[in-house]
Amino acid sequence: MIVRSFTELALTPAMLEAIAAAGWAAPTPIQAGAIGPILEGRDLIGCAQTGTGKTGAFAIPAIERLAGPGSQPGAAGPRPSGGPRVLVLAPTRELALQIAETFDLLGRARSIATAVLIGGEAMGPQLAALARRPDVIVATPGRLFDHLERGTASLRAVRIVVLDEADRMLDMGFAPQVERILRVVPLDRQTLCFSATMPPEVERLVRRHLVRPVRVEAGTAARPVARVTQVLYRADARDKTPVLLRLLGEERGRTLVFTRTKHRADRVARAVQAAGHRVARLHADRSMAQRREALDGFRNGRYRVLIATDIAARGIDVPEITHVVNFDMPHTAEDYIHRIGRTARAEASGLASSIAAPEESDQLRTIERHLGHPVPRQGAAAATGR
Ligand code: AMP
Repeated sequence: MIVRSFTELALTPAMLEAIAAAGWAAPTPIQAGAIGPILEGRDLIGCAQTGTGKTGAFAIPAIERLAGPGSQPGAAGPRPSGGPRVLVLAPTRELALQIAETFDLLGRARSIATAVLIGGEAMGPQLAALARRPDVIVATPGRLFDHLERGTASLRAVRIVVLDEADRMLDMGFAPQVERILRVVPLDRQTLCFSATMPPEVERLVRRHLVRPVRVEAGTAARPVARVTQVLYRADARDKTPVLLRLLGEERGRTLVFTRTKHRADRVARAVQAAGHRVARLHADRSMAQRREALDGFRNGRYRVLIATDIAARGIDVPEITHVVNFDMPHTAEDYIHRIGRTARAEASGLASSIAAPEESDQLRTIERHLGHPVPRQGAAAATGR
């Protein structure tokens, strides 16, 4: 059955209202495929990258099972021992905050309380959030693990576990924490795993911790969205900044620029600012408050340009990014596809420009081999006007 409308899914009127209030007219493919099986209590593997609506794909049914009027068989039900019943693990703080926002958005009418446990923030407010007896915990593995060690969070009542961006969590070295967290969550839970790619490590994780999972694929990272126009500029390392400034002058829309390191992000941001653009930075050396300010400012238009490193930008959701610039080439084809997938969201089209120095030829070759075609070249001279 192909689900074309949220009303075809077994959702409560309260949820349909919340979805309508969010402005979501129809389910995305991953939502259409995942919501039904999750409502039925099945374990699930969702092959989907950020931007496909995957957060809604698990938040909608998870909230239904939490708040369900008891009509959902095996629903999370009343909490005998108390404590959060939904646990979401995510690789980065930004992604965790966005997931929590989605739970708040869709669960507000039913007073679903969410606690966010992420690294880099003070313990105090997190302890206060836990004291309010949240229904949902959204956490990065490291910080949740700290809470478990200190005995400040309990997972005894958890009925649904979501591993979001599992590939990235494992890439970031969180496997030991994820494993240990999964061991303390009750076994008769429902486990959902979302991942843009399915490398062997993710398959192993899934084999160990999911029971007869349903697989749903939508918008996998195998191919970039066709609506993104890709362009490549060859330039010596020292000419990259002029090429970028020229591109910023030509393309007026909201622009996300990726650099290889935090240091380079800072340096490029200074040059872009000096050229008169409103620019913000997003990388791991910035405080949580600074990152929020950067993201909010980029979303609301105070900044037109955001300069970011891969990890900081992973999962960020900013609609209407019309241009993604790879100031430095990413190391893997997956990262390339993730980066350029930040543009052309929700039916719009977008432009992805890459600036590759001769030293980056290997990376470029890897990416083009994966894409199965070369990225169309533009002369760097044309871009710098020389
Ligand atoms: P995600 O892939 O979960 O990060 O979602 C990407 C963006 O799509 C977010 O801004 C969501 O608010 C939005 N979104 C999620 N589901 C829908 C839907 N069914 N219709 C329209 N927008 C949606």
